[in-house]
Amino acid sequence: MKLDQFEAWSKRIASWSKAYLAGLRRRPVRAQGEPGDVLAALPASAPENAEDFETIFADFERLVPDAMTHWQHPRFFAYFPANAAPVSMLAEQLANTIAAQCMLWQTSPAATEMETRMVDWLRQAMGLPQGIRGTIHDTASTATLAALLTMRERALDWAGNREGLSGQPRLRIYSSAEGHSSIDKAAWIAGIGQDNLVKVASTGPLDGMDQAALRAAIAEDRAAGYKPAGLVIVTGGTSVGAMDPVAELIAIAREEGLYTHVDAAWAGSAMICEEFRHYWAGAEGADSIVFNPHKWLGAQFECSVQFLANPEAQVKTLGLRPDYLETLGQSDIVNYSEWTIPLGRRFRALKLWFLMRGYGLEGLRDRIRNHVAWAKDAAYEISTIDGLAIVTEPRLSLFSFAAQDDAATEALLQRINDDGRTYLTQTRHKGRFVIRFQIGPFECTREDVMTAVKAVRELHSTATS
Ligand SMILES: *Cc1c(COP(=O)(O)O)cnc(C)c1O
Repeated sequence: MKLDQFEAWSKRIASWSKAYLAGLRRRPVRAQGEPGDVLAALPASAPENAEDFETIFADFERLVPDAMTHWQHPRFFAYFPANAAPVSMLAEQLANTIAAQCMLWQTSPAATEMETRMVDWLRQAMGLPQGIRGTIHDTASTATLAALLTMRERALDWAGNREGLSGQPRLRIYSSAEGHSSIDKAAWIAGIGQDNLVKVASTGPLDGMDQAALRAAIAEDRAAGYKPAGLVIVTGGTSVGAMDPVAELIAIAREEGLYTHVDAAWAGSAMICEEFRHYWAGAEGADSIVFNPHKWLGAQFECSVQFLANPEAQVKTLGLRPDYLETLGQSDIVNYSEWTIPLGRRFRALKLWFLMRGYGLEGLRDRIRNHVAWAKDAAYEISTIDGLAIVTEPRLSLFSFAAQDDAATEALLQRINDDGRTYLTQTRHKGRFVIRFQIGPFECTREDVMTAVKAVRELHSTATS
């Protein structure tokens, strides 16, 4: 493609994009196709000769949009959001055009220095103290892996990377039963092992980690010859929004010499509003905190920020500087690839810069406050439907509900998602099958929420009448 065609096509794709976003409400939220539809429509092998872009784009329009679940749909209330504010999409277009590999300061001075500044803007916006620094990863899974590797190396006095894990003390990591599966995967990859990730019971009105059970587990492990290394604390669990008692758990971790990592992948965005910070009171004392601006805040996927009280521990764990990556004559610059797992990195700070300037922190707070308020309204409305009950009250903008029994709840969920007006997903709470309702789409209105509630009401009553 020649550059003048590139320009014309960029404009056409911009028009398509506007129409797509403006027309989302008319589409079913969840893809309605069958497994194998797209695979069958794609030729078995790549073409030998170039094809016309007109044909390629026509095929895109024919095959792709209807076979996608629309994450930017204003009635996407499943999982957690993956919000992409329009200004952050524009930042991505520019980052894609410059297409830099931002591994070192030298390969990307603007990306590196903007990353430093954007992480600090967020630190201030979230009420975290000066001195905390951080970096941007692709996803929370990677940030949590970085934290678990740091826990491991710190506990082994940095011998793991050098000597391997064979013959080292057996480490223990603690998290609650409400911890995300990315913690399990990090324990596998870090060579700590599933059996050494201790899932402490969660309890109480917020499903937070039981402190006495944590103390007991640590004492038992020490007596059995294990070496406790780290604690992962949950602020806003993925299942039902569990909230661990952060300050209390950090106090225990300090007494026990454990490295702490707070997983606030979803809920972290809400901390730009002072009134929600009680949910993670004490987080400023953590060694590491992860939150995903690509979830609720509006920075296009992927964008996961990790705050670090002491980056040196993580850099000592992950930082390598072979000869071919030396920046000659500048030993004091920051190379964020030494803070993270992959060497290669995208220019992710640009979309944060556009996002925070394009809406202002007030514009971003307004959205989150609305979502939290509408979740209360929606939970109330659903509680008035005969035969449905709220199982977990809203934690920020997430609540769950259920019908009389698991089979009825599951059947209701199926009808809701086949209907298409909204999209909800399931989890289990204390063994019970429940439907999650999470309000977070960037462009959602109160009317969208009530449309979804109406769909739940109608689809439940058709089944029971
Ligand atoms: C979404 C989520 C994750 C995983 O995030 P990725 O960025 O997809 O890796 C981890 N923890 C919690 C609490 C989450 O909600």
